[in-house]
Amino acid sequence: MKTMYVTHPSSLKHEMGCFHPDSPERIYAISDQMLASGLMSFVKQGYSFKALKKDILRVHSPIYLDYLYKNIPTDGEYYYIDNDTIMNSYTFESALYAAGSGMFAIDAIFSNSVKNAFCAIRPPGHHANHDNAMGSCFFNNVAIAAKYAFDKYKVSRLAIVDFDAHHGNGTEEIFYDDDRVLMCSFFQHPFYPYLGKHSLKKNNMCNLPVNAYAKSSRIRDIVNNHWVPAIHKHKPEVILISAGFDAHKEDDMSQICLTEYDYAWITNIIVELSEQYANGRIVSILEGGYNLSSLSRSVVLHIRALANI
Ligand SMILES: [Zn+2]
Repeated sequence: MKTMYVTHPSSLKHEMGCFHPDSPERIYAISDQMLASGLMSFVKQGYSFKALKKDILRVHSPIYLDYLYKNIPTDGEYYYIDNDTIMNSYTFESALYAAGSGMFAIDAIFSNSVKNAFCAIRPPGHHANHDNAMGSCFFNNVAIAAKYAFDKYKVSRLAIVDFDAHHGNGTEEIFYDDDRVLMCSFFQHPFYPYLGKHSLKKNNMCNLPVNAYAKSSRIRDIVNNHWVPAIHKHKPEVILISAGFDAHKEDDMSQICLTEYDYAWITNIIVELSEQYANGRIVSILEGGYNLSSLSRSVVLHIRALANI
């Protein structure tokens, strides 16, 4: 099988209160749609392992890791880092497995057991920076996978494509001065986390702001005229995806107006580029996407494009 679907039961135990949009129901919605569409039979299933302390410390500071560990609340309690970023008693464990999912997928694609992988995990990661949790993110899952690929598989260059509606400020900060990494994204601006416009001058940061109500044509223009030439120039040996689906027009979290067919289109382009430079190696890790219907439909088309079926 070409594609692996990676998940872990711990993703269902981290919750931040019943009104928080990042809910365990997101993972249930994705797996239900995978089953209902019949796609689950066409992917290899994998279960994440837990990232070790040394894996987290490739990206985050020891002080920050200790801070999270010391503030794990008791059962039934919450610890508020900010109003969006809240720990229950399972969050720390869930975040270790979420961080491990990308590493697990990197091992799978470098052992040639699959070409590519999608990690249906939470909490997400792209807002987490070296020493801070924010925006529902605790560990930067995609950055941890990237550093693991550099260390374990001696990768020279990789690309991170972030199609979440929000700016991946944590990922940008972590790799801002690391020319081994090319980051490609679009993000609604001005919008949470109100960062990102400064990166336009950096060669390895191809992160483009778009206005609210940007449509498919604007996003496809960015992909064709900015991302694709940058990836051709960088020649990545593996492509990681921060796969957020909150730019869907049915998702109230942002005002970008994409459909699931846009995610399929973007994924097809990334697959083509990965075949050209990376032997097809792609690891895609879930970020945002909060409307359960549009999220699950989009993930199914994303995985169909990865699996070429
Ligand atoms: Zn987002």
